[in-house]
Amino acid sequence: MSEKYDVIVIGGGPGGYAAAIRCAQLGLNTACIEKYVNKQGKPALGGTCLNVGCIPSKALLDSSWKFHEAKESFGDHGIKLDTVKMDIAQMHKRKDEVVQQLTGGIASLFKSNKVTWLQGTGKLLPKKRVAFTPLKEGEEEQVLDAENVILAAGSEPVNIKDAPLKDDVVVNSTGALEFDSVPGRLGVIGAGIIGLELGSVWSRLGSDVVVLEAVDTFLPQVDQQLAKETYKVLGKQGLDIRLGARVTGTSVKGKKVTVSYSDSSGDHEETFDRLIVAVGRRPMTDNLLASDAGVELDERGFIHVDSQCRTDVPGVYAVGDLVRGPMLAHKGIEEGVMAADVIAGENTQVNYETIPLVIYIHPELAWVGKTEEEVKASGEPYKTGVAPFASNGRALGAGDTAGLVKFVVDEKSDRVLGMHALGPQASELVQEAVIAMEFGASVEDLQLMVFGHPTLSETVHEAALATDYRAIHLAQRRPKKKKK
Ligand code: FAD
Ligand code: NAD
Repeated sequence: MSEKYDVIVIGGGPGGYAAAIRCAQLGLNTACIEKYVNKQGKPALGGTCLNVGCIPSKALLDSSWKFHEAKESFGDHGIKLDTVKMDIAQMHKRKDEVVQQLTGGIASLFKSNKVTWLQGTGKLLPKKRVAFTPLKEGEEEQVLDAENVILAAGSEPVNIKDAPLKDDVVVNSTGALEFDSVPGRLGVIGAGIIGLELGSVWSRLGSDVVVLEAVDTFLPQVDQQLAKETYKVLGKQGLDIRLGARVTGTSVKGKKVTVSYSDSSGDHEETFDRLIVAVGRRPMTDNLLASDAGVELDERGFIHVDSQCRTDVPGVYAVGDLVRGPMLAHKGIEEGVMAADVIAGENTQVNYETIPLVIYIHPELAWVGKTEEEVKASGEPYKTGVAPFASNGRALGAGDTAGLVKFVVDEKSDRVLGMHALGPQASELVQEAVIAMEFGASVEDLQLMVFGHPTLSETVHEAALATDYRAIHLAQRRPKKKKK
Protein backbone atom coordinates (compact mmCIF):
# COMPACT_ATOMS: atom_id res chain seq x y z
CA MET A 1 0.00 0.00 0.00
CA SER A 2 1.28 3.51 -0.80
CA GLU A 3 2.26 5.83 1.99
CA LYS A 4 0.14 8.95 2.47
CA TYR A 5 2.23 12.11 2.58
CA ASP A 6 1.49 15.44 4.24
CA VAL A 7 2.99 17.09 1.17
CA ILE A 8 4.00 15.88 -2.29
CA VAL A 9 6.10 18.31 -4.30
CA ILE A 10 6.27 17.75 -8.06
CA GLY A 11 9.59 19.07 -9.38
CA GLY A 12 12.95 19.34 -7.60
CA GLY A 13 14.22 22.69 -8.94
CA PRO A 14 14.70 25.79 -6.76
CA GLY A 15 10.95 26.18 -6.16
CA GLY A 16 10.39 22.49 -5.46
CA TYR A 17 13.47 21.60 -3.43
CA ALA A 18 13.12 24.72 -1.23
CA ALA A 19 9.44 23.89 -0.66
CA ALA A 20 10.26 20.27 0.23
CA ILE A 21 13.05 21.22 2.66
CA ARG A 22 10.92 23.89 4.34
CA CYS A 23 7.98 21.44 4.65
CA ALA A 24 10.30 18.92 6.32
CA GLN A 25 11.64 21.62 8.68
CA LEU A 26 8.03 22.27 9.68
CA GLY A 27 7.59 18.59 10.57
CA LEU A 28 5.57 17.59 7.51
CA ASN A 29 6.07 14.14 5.98
CA THR A 30 7.25 15.20 2.51
CA ALA A 31 8.09 13.57 -0.81
CA CYS A 32 9.54 15.33 -3.85
CA ILE A 33 9.05 13.79 -7.29
CA GLU A 34 11.78 14.67 -9.80
CA LYS A 35 12.25 13.08 -13.21
CA TYR A 36 15.48 14.71 -14.42
CA VAL A 37 18.39 12.52 -15.54
CA ASN A 38 21.66 14.38 -16.07
CA LYS A 39 24.10 13.95 -18.95
CA GLN A 40 26.03 11.39 -16.88
CA GLY A 41 22.83 9.30 -16.93
CA LYS A 42 22.11 9.83 -13.21
CA PRO A 43 18.91 11.16 -11.66
CA ALA A 44 19.58 14.65 -10.32
CA LEU A 45 17.82 17.28 -8.25
CA GLY A 46 18.23 21.04 -8.71
CA GLY A 47 16.07 21.60 -11.80
CA THR A 48 16.92 23.95 -14.63
CA CYS A 49 18.82 26.31 -12.34
CA LEU A 50 21.44 23.91 -11.05
CA ASN A 51 21.69 21.57 -14.04
CA VAL A 52 21.32 23.69 -17.18
CA GLY A 53 20.64 27.25 -16.04
CA CYS A 54 21.96 29.68 -13.44
CA ILE A 55 24.89 27.62 -12.20
CA PRO A 56 26.53 26.24 -15.36
CA SER A 57 25.98 29.55 -17.17
CA LYS A 58 27.62 31.49 -14.33
CA ALA A 59 30.51 29.01 -14.24
CA LEU A 60 31.10 29.65 -17.96
CA LEU A 61 30.68 33.40 -17.51
CA ASP A 62 33.38 33.33 -14.84
CA SER A 63 35.76 31.13 -16.87
CA SER A 64 35.33 33.22 -19.99
CA TRP A 65 35.78 36.51 -18.08
CA LYS A 66 39.01 35.26 -16.52
CA PHE A 67 40.25 34.35 -20.01
CA HIS A 68 39.23 37.76 -21.33
CA GLU A 69 41.04 39.51 -18.47
CA ALA A 70 44.15 37.38 -18.87
CA LYS A 71 44.29 38.41 -22.51
CA GLU A 72 43.10 42.00 -22.35
CA SER A 73 43.89 43.53 -18.97
CA PHE A 74 46.49 41.49 -17.03
CA GLY A 75 49.18 43.46 -18.88
CA ASP A 76 47.85 46.70 -17.31
CA HIS A 77 48.61 45.22 -13.89
CA GLY A 78 52.11 44.25 -14.98
CA ILE A 79 51.27 40.56 -15.31
CA LYS A 80 53.00 39.32 -18.44
CA LEU A 81 51.89 36.08 -20.05
CA ASP A 82 53.55 34.82 -23.21
CA THR A 83 50.48 33.00 -24.43
CA VAL A 84 46.96 32.66 -23.13
CA LYS A 85 45.13 29.61 -24.42
CA MET A 86 41.68 28.30 -23.63
CA ASP A 87 41.14 24.62 -22.91
CA ILE A 88 37.42 24.23 -23.62
CA ALA A 89 37.26 20.63 -22.37
CA GLN A 90 38.75 21.70 -19.01
CA MET A 91 36.33 24.63 -18.80
CA HIS A 92 33.38 22.23 -19.22
CA LYS A 93 34.90 19.73 -16.76
CA ARG A 94 35.10 22.43 -14.09
CA LYS A 95 31.54 23.60 -14.84
CA ASP A 96 30.26 20.01 -14.62
CA GLU A 97 32.02 19.51 -11.27
CA VAL A 98 30.39 22.67 -9.89
CA VAL A 99 26.99 21.41 -11.06
CA GLN A 100 27.52 17.94 -9.59
CA GLN A 101 28.66 19.36 -6.27
CA LEU A 102 25.56 21.49 -5.96
CA THR A 103 23.01 18.94 -7.19
CA GLY A 104 24.60 16.33 -4.91
CA GLY A 105 24.28 18.89 -2.11
CA ILE A 106 20.51 19.05 -2.59
CA ALA A 107 20.32 15.24 -2.43
CA SER A 108 22.25 15.37 0.88
CA LEU A 109 19.94 18.06 2.22
CA PHE A 110 16.94 15.88 1.31
CA LYS A 111 18.51 13.01 3.26
CA SER A 112 19.33 15.07 6.32
CA ASN A 113 15.86 16.64 6.36
CA LYS A 114 14.20 13.27 5.68
CA VAL A 115 12.55 14.37 2.44
CA THR A 116 11.73 11.31 0.30
CA TRP A 117 13.04 11.75 -3.24
CA LEU A 118 10.83 9.83 -5.65
CA GLN A 119 12.74 9.49 -8.92
CA GLY A 120 10.26 9.69 -11.76
CA THR A 121 7.34 11.66 -13.14
CA GLY A 122 4.38 13.05 -11.22
CA LYS A 123 0.96 14.00 -12.50
CA LEU A 124 -1.75 15.68 -10.46
CA LEU A 125 -5.03 13.78 -10.32
CA PRO A 126 -8.29 14.99 -8.72
CA LYS A 127 -8.57 15.01 -4.90
CA LYS A 128 -4.89 15.72 -4.24
CA ARG A 129 -3.81 12.35 -5.58
CA VAL A 130 -0.65 12.05 -7.63
CA ALA A 131 0.19 9.46 -10.28
CA PHE A 132 3.88 8.58 -9.92
CA THR A 133 5.72 6.85 -12.78
CA PRO A 134 9.18 5.71 -11.56
CA LEU A 135 12.27 6.29 -13.71
CA LYS A 136 13.46 2.75 -13.08
CA GLU A 137 12.27 0.31 -15.69
CA GLY A 138 10.09 -2.46 -14.32
CA GLU A 139 8.86 -0.44 -11.34
CA GLU A 140 5.11 0.01 -11.41
CA GLU A 141 3.20 3.27 -11.53
CA GLN A 142 1.66 4.20 -8.20
CA VAL A 143 -1.11 6.55 -7.13
CA LEU A 144 -0.04 8.51 -4.06
CA ASP A 145 -2.24 10.39 -1.61
CA ALA A 146 -1.33 13.70 -0.08
CA GLU A 147 -2.90 16.29 2.20
CA ASN A 148 -1.23 18.94 0.07
CA VAL A 149 0.49 19.10 -3.31
CA ILE A 150 2.99 21.73 -4.44
CA LEU A 151 3.46 21.94 -8.21
CA ALA A 152 6.98 23.09 -9.11
CA ALA A 153 7.56 21.68 -12.59
CA GLY A 154 9.37 24.78 -13.89
CA SER A 155 9.71 25.84 -17.49
CA GLU A 156 11.31 24.91 -20.80
CA PRO A 157 12.75 26.92 -23.70
CA VAL A 158 10.33 28.28 -26.29
CA ASN A 159 10.94 26.91 -29.81
CA ILE A 160 10.16 28.94 -32.91
CA LYS A 161 9.13 27.44 -36.21
CA ASP A 162 11.53 29.71 -38.14
CA ALA A 163 14.54 28.25 -36.32
CA PRO A 164 14.00 24.58 -35.43
CA LEU A 165 16.78 23.06 -33.31
CA LYS A 166 19.31 20.97 -35.25
CA ASP A 167 21.99 18.84 -33.57
CA ASP A 168 24.75 21.05 -32.18
CA VAL A 169 24.29 23.68 -34.90
CA VAL A 170 20.98 25.29 -33.91
CA VAL A 171 20.61 24.95 -30.16
CA ASN A 172 18.74 26.34 -27.18
CA SER A 173 20.39 27.50 -23.94
CA THR A 174 21.15 23.92 -22.88
CA GLY A 175 23.08 23.22 -26.09
CA ALA A 176 24.87 26.58 -25.82
CA LEU A 177 26.36 25.48 -22.49
CA GLU A 178 28.02 22.53 -24.21
CA PHE A 179 29.76 23.78 -27.38
CA ASP A 180 32.92 21.68 -27.64
CA SER A 181 34.82 24.38 -29.51
CA VAL A 182 34.56 28.14 -29.90
CA PRO A 183 32.30 28.88 -32.89
CA GLY A 184 33.94 31.20 -35.42
CA ARG A 185 30.67 33.03 -36.09
CA LEU A 186 27.87 32.67 -33.57
CA GLY A 187 24.31 33.85 -34.14
CA VAL A 188 21.92 34.43 -31.26
CA ILE A 189 18.18 34.94 -31.69
CA GLY A 190 16.88 37.09 -28.83
CA ALA A 191 18.70 39.87 -26.95
CA GLY A 192 17.10 38.85 -23.65
CA ILE A 193 18.88 37.66 -20.54
CA ILE A 194 20.00 34.30 -21.95
CA GLY A 195 21.06 35.74 -25.31
CA LEU A 196 23.23 38.38 -23.64
CA GLU A 197 24.76 36.08 -21.02
CA LEU A 198 25.57 33.17 -23.33
CA GLY A 199 26.45 35.48 -26.22
CA SER A 200 28.97 37.12 -23.85
CA VAL A 201 30.51 33.77 -22.87
CA TRP A 202 31.35 32.78 -26.43
CA SER A 203 32.25 36.31 -27.53
CA ARG A 204 34.87 36.51 -24.75
CA LEU A 205 36.27 33.18 -25.88
CA GLY A 206 36.69 34.49 -29.41
CA SER A 207 33.43 34.07 -31.35
CA ASP A 208 32.23 36.78 -33.64
CA VAL A 209 28.71 37.19 -32.15
CA VAL A 210 25.65 38.66 -33.87
CA VAL A 211 22.47 38.98 -31.78
CA LEU A 212 19.19 39.36 -33.66
CA GLU A 213 16.41 40.94 -31.60
CA ALA A 214 12.87 41.36 -32.92
CA VAL A 215 11.98 44.34 -30.73
CA ASP A 216 13.28 47.85 -31.55
CA THR A 217 14.07 48.75 -27.94
CA PHE A 218 17.03 47.14 -26.19
CA LEU A 219 16.02 45.55 -22.85
CA PRO A 220 12.62 47.27 -22.68
CA GLN A 221 12.05 46.09 -19.08
CA VAL A 222 15.22 47.85 -17.89
CA ASP A 223 15.57 51.55 -16.97
CA GLN A 224 16.40 52.98 -20.38
CA GLN A 225 19.32 55.13 -19.19
CA LEU A 226 21.04 51.93 -18.06
CA ALA A 227 19.85 49.90 -21.04
CA LYS A 228 21.46 52.43 -23.39
CA GLU A 229 24.72 52.33 -21.42
CA THR A 230 24.65 48.52 -21.45
CA TYR A 231 24.15 48.49 -25.21
CA LYS A 232 27.23 50.68 -25.65
CA VAL A 233 29.37 48.60 -23.27
CA LEU A 234 28.41 45.31 -24.93
CA GLY A 235 29.03 46.84 -28.36
CA LYS A 236 32.55 47.79 -27.29
CA GLN A 237 33.08 44.20 -26.15
CA GLY A 238 32.23 43.05 -29.67
CA LEU A 239 28.58 41.98 -29.39
CA ASP A 240 26.85 43.06 -32.58
CA ILE A 241 23.26 43.50 -31.37
CA ARG A 242 20.81 44.21 -34.17
CA LEU A 243 17.47 45.56 -32.97
CA GLY A 244 14.18 45.33 -34.85
CA ALA A 245 15.49 42.21 -36.63
CA ARG A 246 12.75 39.65 -37.28
CA VAL A 247 14.00 36.18 -38.11
CA THR A 248 12.06 34.75 -41.06
CA GLY A 249 13.83 31.42 -41.57
CA THR A 250 16.93 29.28 -41.16
CA SER A 251 18.57 26.66 -43.30
CA VAL A 252 21.24 24.25 -42.12
CA LYS A 253 23.82 22.96 -44.58
CA GLY A 254 26.40 20.67 -43.07
CA LYS A 255 27.86 22.50 -40.08
CA LYS A 256 26.67 25.97 -41.11
CA VAL A 257 23.37 27.70 -40.59
CA THR A 258 22.05 30.57 -42.65
CA VAL A 259 19.55 32.87 -40.96
CA SER A 260 17.20 35.10 -42.94
CA TYR A 261 15.84 38.16 -41.19
CA SER A 262 14.22 41.44 -42.02
CA ASP A 263 14.53 44.86 -40.44
CA SER A 264 13.59 48.42 -41.36
CA SER A 265 16.27 48.43 -44.08
CA GLY A 266 15.04 45.28 -45.82
CA ASP A 267 15.76 41.54 -45.97
CA HIS A 268 19.14 40.09 -44.95
CA GLU A 269 20.99 36.81 -44.57
CA GLU A 270 23.82 35.84 -42.24
CA THR A 271 25.70 32.54 -42.08
CA PHE A 272 26.92 31.21 -38.75
CA ASP A 273 28.79 28.19 -37.39
CA ARG A 274 26.30 27.89 -34.54
CA LEU A 275 22.99 29.52 -33.67
CA ILE A 276 21.48 29.91 -30.20
CA VAL A 277 17.71 30.31 -29.99
CA ALA A 278 16.97 32.29 -26.81
CA VAL A 279 13.48 33.71 -27.26
CA GLY A 280 11.98 33.00 -23.83
CA ARG A 281 10.74 30.09 -21.74
CA ARG A 282 7.28 28.65 -21.16
CA PRO A 283 5.73 26.97 -18.13
CA MET A 284 6.11 23.19 -18.12
CA THR A 285 2.45 22.18 -17.75
CA ASP A 286 2.51 19.34 -20.33
CA ASN A 287 1.44 16.04 -18.74
CA LEU A 288 1.50 17.64 -15.29
CA LEU A 289 -2.23 17.91 -14.78
CA ALA A 290 -4.93 15.32 -15.42
CA SER A 291 -7.74 16.90 -17.43
CA ASP A 292 -10.04 16.66 -14.40
CA ALA A 293 -7.45 17.84 -11.83
CA GLY A 294 -9.29 21.15 -11.51
CA VAL A 295 -6.23 23.41 -11.61
CA GLU A 296 -6.82 26.40 -13.89
CA LEU A 297 -4.27 28.08 -16.16
CA ASP A 298 -4.20 31.83 -16.82
CA GLU A 299 -4.47 33.34 -20.31
CA ARG A 300 -0.66 33.02 -20.82
CA GLY A 301 -0.56 29.32 -19.91
CA PHE A 302 0.82 29.76 -16.38
CA ILE A 303 -0.88 28.00 -13.48
CA HIS A 304 -3.33 30.43 -11.91
CA VAL A 305 -2.45 31.22 -8.28
CA ASP A 306 -3.23 33.85 -5.67
CA SER A 307 -0.59 36.00 -3.94
CA GLN A 308 0.33 33.06 -1.68
CA CYS A 309 0.60 30.53 -4.50
CA ARG A 310 -2.72 28.73 -3.88
CA THR A 311 -4.20 27.29 -7.08
CA ASP A 312 -7.95 27.03 -7.66
CA VAL A 313 -7.94 23.61 -5.94
CA PRO A 314 -7.78 23.80 -2.13
CA GLY A 315 -4.59 22.14 -0.86
CA VAL A 316 -2.82 22.44 -4.21
CA TYR A 317 -0.15 25.12 -4.63
CA ALA A 318 2.09 26.11 -7.55
CA VAL A 319 5.40 27.97 -7.42
CA GLY A 320 8.36 29.13 -9.50
CA ASP A 321 8.45 29.34 -13.28
CA LEU A 322 5.04 27.62 -13.47
CA VAL A 323 3.31 30.75 -12.18
CA ARG A 324 3.13 34.49 -12.94
CA GLY A 325 6.03 36.80 -12.18
CA PRO A 326 9.65 36.78 -13.27
CA MET A 327 11.24 33.43 -14.09
CA LEU A 328 13.99 33.56 -11.48
CA ALA A 329 15.45 30.96 -9.16
CA HIS A 330 15.29 33.21 -6.08
CA LYS A 331 11.65 34.06 -6.77
CA GLY A 332 10.88 30.31 -7.03
CA ILE A 333 12.76 29.53 -3.81
CA GLU A 334 10.86 32.15 -1.81
CA GLU A 335 7.53 31.01 -3.26
CA GLY A 336 8.36 27.40 -2.35
CA VAL A 337 9.13 28.45 1.21
CA MET A 338 5.95 30.54 1.32
CA ALA A 339 3.77 27.64 0.11
CA ALA A 340 5.25 25.38 2.81
CA ASP A 341 4.64 28.04 5.46
CA VAL A 342 1.04 28.54 4.29
CA ILE A 343 0.48 24.77 4.56
CA ALA A 344 1.87 24.78 8.12
CA GLY A 345 -0.26 27.79 9.06
CA GLU A 346 2.68 30.19 9.45
CA ASN A 347 2.56 33.92 8.74
CA THR A 348 4.33 34.44 5.45
CA GLN A 349 4.59 36.48 2.28
CA VAL A 350 6.74 37.15 -0.77
CA ASN A 351 7.20 40.85 -1.52
CA TYR A 352 7.02 40.86 -5.30
CA GLU A 353 7.92 44.59 -5.35
CA THR A 354 11.48 43.98 -4.17
CA ILE A 355 12.68 41.00 -6.23
CA PRO A 356 16.11 41.85 -7.65
CA LEU A 357 17.00 41.01 -11.25
CA VAL A 358 20.52 40.57 -12.53
CA ILE A 359 22.01 40.07 -15.97
CA TYR A 360 25.45 38.55 -15.41
CA ILE A 361 27.24 40.27 -18.25
CA HIS A 362 30.31 42.36 -17.48
CA PRO A 363 29.85 44.77 -15.90
CA GLU A 364 26.79 43.25 -14.27
CA LEU A 365 23.39 44.85 -14.77
CA ALA A 366 21.12 44.64 -11.74
CA TRP A 367 17.99 46.37 -10.61
CA VAL A 368 15.13 46.34 -8.15
CA GLY A 369 11.84 48.20 -8.10
CA LYS A 370 10.57 50.73 -10.58
CA THR A 371 12.34 52.22 -13.57
CA GLU A 372 12.27 55.96 -14.24
CA GLU A 373 9.96 55.28 -17.20
CA GLU A 374 7.45 53.47 -14.97
CA VAL A 375 7.46 56.20 -12.34
CA LYS A 376 7.17 58.93 -14.96
CA ALA A 377 4.17 57.15 -16.48
CA SER A 378 2.47 57.06 -13.07
CA GLY A 379 2.45 60.88 -13.07
CA GLU A 380 3.71 61.07 -9.48
CA PRO A 381 6.56 63.52 -8.79
CA TYR A 382 9.95 61.84 -8.50
CA LYS A 383 13.65 62.58 -8.38
CA THR A 384 16.64 60.63 -9.60
CA GLY A 385 20.28 60.46 -8.61
CA VAL A 386 23.07 59.02 -10.74
CA ALA A 387 26.70 58.30 -9.90
CA PRO A 388 29.28 56.69 -12.20
CA PHE A 389 31.84 54.09 -11.15
CA ALA A 390 34.49 56.17 -12.95
CA SER A 391 34.93 58.27 -9.79
CA ASN A 392 35.03 55.27 -7.43
CA GLY A 393 38.54 54.59 -6.09
CA ARG A 394 37.99 50.87 -5.65
CA ALA A 395 36.64 50.47 -9.20
CA LEU A 396 39.56 52.50 -10.55
CA GLY A 397 42.05 50.36 -8.62
CA ALA A 398 40.52 47.25 -10.12
CA GLY A 399 40.39 48.77 -13.60
CA ASP A 400 36.63 48.16 -13.66
CA THR A 401 35.07 51.59 -14.03
CA ALA A 402 32.32 51.18 -16.62
CA GLY A 403 28.78 51.82 -15.48
CA LEU A 404 26.73 53.76 -12.99
CA VAL A 405 24.20 53.54 -10.17
CA LYS A 406 20.83 55.27 -10.38
CA PHE A 407 18.16 55.80 -7.75
CA VAL A 408 14.54 56.60 -8.49
CA VAL A 409 12.89 58.21 -5.48
CA ASP A 410 9.39 59.41 -4.62
CA GLU A 411 9.65 63.21 -4.43
CA LYS A 412 6.92 63.58 -1.81
CA SER A 413 7.75 60.77 0.63
CA ASP A 414 11.50 60.45 -0.15
CA ARG A 415 10.97 56.66 -0.36
CA VAL A 416 13.30 54.64 -2.60
CA LEU A 417 11.21 53.31 -5.53
CA GLY A 418 14.00 51.64 -7.47
CA MET A 419 17.73 51.21 -7.85
CA HIS A 420 19.46 50.36 -11.10
CA ALA A 421 23.13 49.51 -11.38
CA LEU A 422 25.45 48.69 -14.23
CA GLY A 423 28.82 48.02 -12.74
CA PRO A 424 31.26 45.66 -11.07
CA GLN A 425 29.45 43.34 -8.63
CA ALA A 426 26.13 45.08 -9.28
CA SER A 427 24.48 41.76 -8.35
CA GLU A 428 25.73 42.26 -4.78
CA LEU A 429 25.20 46.05 -4.67
CA VAL A 430 21.54 45.79 -5.65
CA GLN A 431 20.88 43.85 -2.47
CA GLU A 432 21.59 47.06 -0.51
CA ALA A 433 18.58 48.65 -2.19
CA VAL A 434 16.48 45.51 -1.65
CA ILE A 435 17.11 45.80 2.08
CA ALA A 436 16.48 49.55 2.04
CA MET A 437 13.19 49.11 0.18
CA GLU A 438 12.07 46.23 2.41
CA PHE A 439 12.60 48.48 5.42
CA GLY A 440 10.75 51.35 3.71
CA ALA A 441 13.89 53.50 3.74
CA SER A 442 13.88 57.07 2.57
CA VAL A 443 16.77 58.08 0.36
CA GLU A 444 17.84 60.36 3.22
CA ASP A 445 18.33 57.23 5.37
CA LEU A 446 20.87 56.03 2.79
CA GLN A 447 22.45 59.47 2.53
CA LEU A 448 23.08 59.53 6.27
CA MET A 449 24.63 56.06 6.43
CA VAL A 450 28.39 55.48 6.57
CA PHE A 451 29.77 53.38 3.73
CA GLY A 452 33.21 51.78 4.01
CA HIS A 453 36.04 53.25 1.96
CA PRO A 454 37.22 52.27 -0.56
CA THR A 455 34.27 50.10 -1.62
CA LEU A 456 32.10 49.78 -4.68
CA SER A 457 29.15 50.50 -2.38
CA GLU A 458 30.30 54.09 -2.16
CA THR A 459 28.83 54.59 -5.63
CA VAL A 460 25.46 53.48 -4.23
CA HIS A 461 25.93 56.14 -1.53
CA GLU A 462 26.92 58.79 -4.07
CA ALA A 463 23.87 58.03 -6.22
CA ALA A 464 21.63 58.34 -3.15
CA LEU A 465 23.29 61.69 -2.32
CA ALA A 466 22.95 62.79 -5.93
CA THR A 467 19.14 62.66 -5.71
CA ASP A 468 19.41 65.85 -3.59
CA TYR A 469 22.41 67.46 -5.32
CA ARG A 470 24.72 66.63 -2.44
CA ALA A 471 27.11 64.09 -3.96
CA ILE A 472 30.65 64.88 -2.81
CA HIS A 473 32.67 63.33 -5.62
CA LEU A 474 30.57 64.59 -8.51
CA ALA A 475 30.25 67.98 -10.06
CA GLN A 476 26.48 68.38 -9.81
CA ARG A 477 24.65 71.48 -10.86
CA ARG A 478 21.24 72.10 -9.32
CA PRO A 479 18.81 73.26 -12.05
CA LYS A 480 17.83 76.89 -11.64
CA LYS A 481 14.32 77.42 -10.28
CA LYS A 482 12.00 78.80 -12.94
CA LYS A 483 11.01 82.43 -12.35
CA LYS A 484 7.33 82.85 -11.66
P1 FAD B 1 12.96 24.34 -12.65
O1 FAD B 1 14.26 24.75 -12.15
O2 FAD B 1 12.72 24.31 -14.11
O3 FAD B 1 12.71 22.90 -12.03
C1 FAD B 1 11.58 22.15 -12.34
C2 FAD B 1 11.92 20.69 -12.19
O4 FAD B 1 10.73 19.94 -12.30
C3 FAD B 1 12.84 20.16 -13.28
O5 FAD B 1 13.96 19.55 -12.70
C4 FAD B 1 12.00 19.14 -14.05
O6 FAD B 1 12.76 18.01 -14.45
C5 FAD B 1 10.99 18.74 -13.00
N1 FAD B 1 9.72 18.29 -13.56
C6 FAD B 1 8.97 18.89 -14.52
N2 FAD B 1 7.83 18.19 -14.72
C7 FAD B 1 7.87 17.14 -13.87
C8 FAD B 1 6.98 16.07 -13.59
N3 FAD B 1 5.80 15.98 -14.22
N4 FAD B 1 7.35 15.15 -12.69
C9 FAD B 1 8.55 15.23 -12.02
N5 FAD B 1 9.43 16.24 -12.25
C10 FAD B 1 9.07 17.18 -13.14
N6 FAD B 1 17.50 32.46 -12.70
C11 FAD B 1 18.13 33.23 -11.78
O7 FAD B 1 17.50 33.64 -10.81
N7 FAD B 1 19.44 33.57 -11.91
C12 FAD B 1 20.18 33.15 -12.96
O8 FAD B 1 21.36 33.47 -13.04
C13 FAD B 1 19.56 32.34 -13.94
N8 FAD B 1 20.26 31.89 -15.00
C14 FAD B 1 19.65 31.07 -15.91
C15 FAD B 1 20.39 30.64 -17.00
C16 FAD B 1 19.81 29.82 -17.95
C17 FAD B 1 20.63 29.35 -19.13
C18 FAD B 1 18.45 29.42 -17.79
C19 FAD B 1 17.82 28.51 -18.79
C20 FAD B 1 17.71 29.85 -16.72
C21 FAD B 1 18.29 30.69 -15.77
N9 FAD B 1 17.59 31.20 -14.68
C22 FAD B 1 18.19 32.00 -13.76
C23 FAD B 1 16.17 30.85 -14.48
C24 FAD B 1 16.05 29.74 -13.43
O9 FAD B 1 16.78 28.62 -13.86
C25 FAD B 1 14.59 29.37 -13.22
O10 FAD B 1 13.84 30.54 -12.92
C26 FAD B 1 14.45 28.39 -12.08
O11 FAD B 1 15.18 27.22 -12.34
C27 FAD B 1 12.97 28.03 -11.87
O12 FAD B 1 12.86 27.14 -10.83
P2 FAD B 1 11.64 26.12 -10.76
O13 FAD B 1 11.85 25.29 -9.54
O14 FAD B 1 10.37 26.83 -10.91
O15 FAD B 1 11.78 25.22 -12.06
P1 NAD C 1 13.78 36.78 -22.43
O1 NAD C 1 12.33 36.94 -22.36
O2 NAD C 1 14.65 37.43 -21.41
O3 NAD C 1 14.32 37.30 -23.84
C1 NAD C 1 13.86 36.80 -25.05
C2 NAD C 1 14.13 37.84 -26.12
O4 NAD C 1 13.90 37.24 -27.38
C3 NAD C 1 13.22 39.06 -26.02
O5 NAD C 1 14.00 40.23 -26.07
C4 NAD C 1 12.32 38.93 -27.24
O6 NAD C 1 11.90 40.16 -27.76
C5 NAD C 1 13.22 38.18 -28.19
N1 NAD C 1 12.51 37.42 -29.23
C6 NAD C 1 11.41 36.65 -29.10
N2 NAD C 1 11.09 36.08 -30.28
C7 NAD C 1 12.02 36.49 -31.19
C8 NAD C 1 12.24 36.25 -32.56
N3 NAD C 1 11.43 35.45 -33.26
N4 NAD C 1 13.28 36.84 -33.17
C9 NAD C 1 14.13 37.66 -32.47
N5 NAD C 1 13.95 37.93 -31.15
C10 NAD C 1 12.92 37.35 -30.51
O7 NAD C 1 14.03 35.20 -22.49
P2 NAD C 1 15.35 34.35 -22.38
O8 NAD C 1 16.54 35.19 -22.59
O9 NAD C 1 15.12 33.17 -23.25
O10 NAD C 1 15.31 33.88 -20.88
C11 NAD C 1 14.17 33.15 -20.37
C12 NAD C 1 14.00 33.41 -18.91
O11 NAD C 1 15.05 32.80 -18.17
C13 NAD C 1 14.06 34.89 -18.59
O12 NAD C 1 12.75 35.37 -18.48
C14 NAD C 1 14.74 34.96 -17.28
O13 NAD C 1 13.81 35.23 -16.28
C15 NAD C 1 15.35 33.60 -17.05
N6 NAD C 1 16.81 33.78 -16.95
C16 NAD C 1 17.30 34.54 -15.94
C17 NAD C 1 18.64 34.78 -15.85
C18 NAD C 1 19.16 35.64 -14.76
O14 NAD C 1 18.44 35.88 -13.81
N7 NAD C 1 20.38 36.14 -14.85
C19 NAD C 1 19.51 34.23 -16.77
C20 NAD C 1 18.99 33.47 -17.80
C21 NAD C 1 17.63 33.23 -17.87
